[in-house]
Amino acid sequence: MSATIIDGKAFAANVRAQVAEHVTRLKEEQNITPGLAVVLVGEDPASQVYVRSKGKMTVEVGMNSFEHKLEADTSEYDLLALIDQLNNDPTIHGILVQLPLPGHLNSDLVINSIDPAKDVDGFHISNVGLLGTGQKSMVPCTPLGSLMMLRDHHGSLSGLNAVVVGRSNIVGKPMAQLLLGDSCTVTIAHSRTKDLAEVCRGADILVAAVGRPEMIPGDWVKPGATVIDVGINRIPHPEKEGKTKLVGDVHYESAAEVAGAITPVPGGVGPMTIACLLANTLTACCRANGLTEPEGLTA
Ligand code: NDP
Repeated sequence: MSATIIDGKAFAANVRAQVAEHVTRLKEEQNITPGLAVVLVGEDPASQVYVRSKGKMTVEVGMNSFEHKLEADTSEYDLLALIDQLNNDPTIHGILVQLPLPGHLNSDLVINSIDPAKDVDGFHISNVGLLGTGQKSMVPCTPLGSLMMLRDHHGSLSGLNAVVVGRSNIVGKPMAQLLLGDSCTVTIAHSRTKDLAEVCRGADILVAAVGRPEMIPGDWVKPGATVIDVGINRIPHPEKEGKTKLVGDVHYESAAEVAGAITPVPGGVGPMTIACLLANTLTACCRANGLTEPEGLTA
């Protein structure tokens, strides 16, 4: 194995420590405590785990955490009324509606009802437009975390060839926008891309956000490239019967033989997502109060 392992767990702990330091200063100097409201509709087990872990880490960095758990059959009217209330609550600086929502709720409508200044997931159409036009916005957490690790590893990304595999609104597209913002030459690949292997081999930076376990093998990776594996896939454990394990979208063992640097799964991009949610909440709080934004914690 030759690649440097980009330790997302340690990186995320460092981001959370920086956030906590800023929060302490905000409390001491401005008497302000950032607040994050998380709304969960229904009882999806994975969503419940995410929401619990978000709440725990919010409190750990010294912020106020507000959890709103609604029944699975909550009406759109009631959900929008709650969001309206949170939008108008000055003690709340970030609002996150846990996705996916139950089928009877229109996710786009719900997300676009969040005040864009409090949209710490960065999914509101206004934030999408601001990011796309290179203006100050709230940036989706997973791509932001990936960008932070890339900047830390490379310094400047200017002129590097970046290939993002996946074109979802929450990962692929914003990731590509961020890389473009840092002056990479960006290719977005997807399920209709011709000769994906060859496209990937041209990448100095290869971001995999596909949702297919170990789809990208080592021989698609350019020697020395940096590989950011966003994928989180649970598969049957190859050696332990009845058990499962998490793998990324990249075949880690073979890719690590050729890459210059690589994020593992678990312990790569995953931990950065919650750390960036906290960073975004801090940023939103500073903006709401006309204070200087923390350096290095935004795009
Ligand atoms: P989506 O399913 O929304 O998008 C997947 C993308 O991959 C689509 O654009 C699709 O193309 C493309 N794709 C699918 N199959 C292929 C293929 N055979 N060849 C090339 N492209 C393909 O997924 P997300 O973006 O939401 O998530 C991607 C992965 O990242 C998942 O594993 C998810 O669990 C993980 N994830 C991890 C997070 C973290 O915190 N680390 C946060 C969010 C997601 P097309 O558009 O043509 O269908």
